[in-house]
Amino acid sequence: MPRLVWFRNDLRTLENPALDAAAMSTEASVLGVCFLSPTQWKLHGWGTPRVSFMLEHLRLVRRELEHRGIPLLIQTVESYSDIPTAILDLMKIHGCTKLDANIEYGLDEQRRDAAVLHTLRSSNMELTLHEDQTIIPCNDFRTGGKNPYRVYTPFRKKWEQLFAEQPLPARAPKSPKRRLSLESGSIPNTIAGFEPWPQQTMWTPGTDAALHRLSSFLDGPVDMYHRNRDRPDLEGTSSLSPWLAVGAISPMSCMRPLVARHGPDPRTWPEGPRTWQSELVWRDFYRHVMWNYPAVSMHKPMKSWTENVAWQHNKGHFAAWCEGRTGVDFVDAAMRQLQATGWMHNRMRMITAMFLTKNLLIDWRRGEEFFAQHLIDYDFASNNGGWQWAASTGTDAAPYFRIFNPERQAEIFDPDGTYRTRWLIDRPPCEAIVDLKASRANAIATFKQARELPCL
Ligand code: FAD
Repeated sequence: MPRLVWFRNDLRTLENPALDAAAMSTEASVLGVCFLSPTQWKLHGWGTPRVSFMLEHLRLVRRELEHRGIPLLIQTVESYSDIPTAILDLMKIHGCTKLDANIEYGLDEQRRDAAVLHTLRSSNMELTLHEDQTIIPCNDFRTGGKNPYRVYTPFRKKWEQLFAEQPLPARAPKSPKRRLSLESGSIPNTIAGFEPWPQQTMWTPGTDAALHRLSSFLDGPVDMYHRNRDRPDLEGTSSLSPWLAVGAISPMSCMRPLVARHGPDPRTWPEGPRTWQSELVWRDFYRHVMWNYPAVSMHKPMKSWTENVAWQHNKGHFAAWCEGRTGVDFVDAAMRQLQATGWMHNRMRMITAMFLTKNLLIDWRRGEEFFAQHLIDYDFASNNGGWQWAASTGTDAAPYFRIFNPERQAEIFDPDGTYRTRWLIDRPPCEAIVDLKASRANAIATFKQARELPCL
């Protein structure tokens, strides 16, 4: 009787707790399943880059699983609500009674899993959920007053203390006792609604590619990460986010080599690795926020008074921002990098998001949606957290009166203009669509006014 493993946002065979648990269980063989749910992806705002990378990567995962005698079934379902019955049917057909999966913290994913659990229980079948989406799980992670964290710095302190105290999870053996001779499912080359994405060739899918990138980063750039991480003109960051987003590599696998080099307590690490690790803590932080505050998954700001902000609806401004022709060089360069590669440097995400929400006073949710559509590394929790930070609507966000000046940012972070030259090469000449000083003053006045109004 095989044990079923349901692959979701954890597309890898390396350090995959659900897969490892199934392979080590008393059941002799393991069967995998992955659901493609294009209607749900659309509903969640996913764009072609994310889907294209995921499908390419899934092909490699299928091959790796086959090497280990684990066939991977692929099923297309319209939406999450079709999954409980689809799983039940599969389990009946293949004689499985136990299902393993790694927990997902998104609201719709939680609801989907609750429905699956309910369906399986009524047929005397089991679902076991394992932790892998964060380094420190969301459950029971509370302040002294037993509340969820809202502020990053105390969250990080507690996180580091817990991390230092806990041993790293043991690495599990890989293959089940018996191979299952069943044909894997086929993965479509294209999916309706998600056009082919030519830039896909820039990104090598696979866990091996992620591990290679990780080790090149840890063998050099990480040492200067604290100095270079804000420089989009340098290759100072890991660019691992696309692989982390589909689960080709786990955040714990990123920590493991650092622990081997510098010891178990991140608080004692050299500045470069320590600063990099603190970014993985941001990643955890935003997942904890998503888990603890379901409102963020319903397009709501963390700060409710910001619902009063009188956003502007200038279609021309929004289009100029999307297309990288606002006439503000640093912003346009970043938007062009996004369109050309599906990726954007973190500092540039902060600058472009702040420019949209403050200088153009356009609702952060429009920018959030645009990034979701265009980022290869699109991840709801980090994207929402980043947008709410920049728009000053989030927990522990940038104060509304502290607005980046993109020209000053360019002088500091792209001192020779290398980044701008690279990405502005084909931009037709254009005038700035807003005056930076006047639009900044207007944004501060608008936010101030919103704050003084009663909450909606
Ligand atoms: P590195 O600097 O090498 O950091 C390592 C890893 O830490 C990253 O791969 C990422 O998983 C995590 N990380 C780093 N910075 C952050 C951060 N600020 N918040 C959360 N996690 C972080 N990240 C996404 O993965 N997907 C998104 O959809 C996304 N949208 C964003 C939108 C906005 C407006 C902002 C300001 C940030 C967003 N981020 C998002 C966070 C961050 O910009 C990217 O994770 C980072 O640029 C990825 O580059 P890297 O892999 O080289 O990061």
